[in-house]
Amino acid sequence: MAYVISDECIACGACQAECPVEAISEGDGKFAIDPDLCTDCGSCAEVCAVEAIQPE
Ligand code: SF4
Ligand code: SF4
Repeated sequence: MAYVISDECIACGACQAECPVEAISEGDGKFAIDPDLCTDCGSCAEVCAVEAIQPE
C-alpha cells in the first residue's frame, strides 16, 4: 500500500514539503511517490489543492 499521485497533479510542490520520509520527488511534469518509502501517513494528500493524491 502507498499513496499515488494522479495526472491531475499541477506540480505545485506543496506535498513534497509535507512528507516526513522524503518519498515524494519531482518527475516529468508531475510529482511522484516512491511506494517503497511511503508509510501511508496521508499528510501529502491533505495539502494537495487539486486532490491528486489518493490511497492506492
Ligand atoms: Fe509521504 Fe505520507 Fe504522502 Fe506517503 S502518505 S508520500 S509517507 S506524506
Ligand atoms: Fe501535485 Fe498535489 Fe503535490 Fe501539488 S500537492 S505537487 S498538485 S500532487
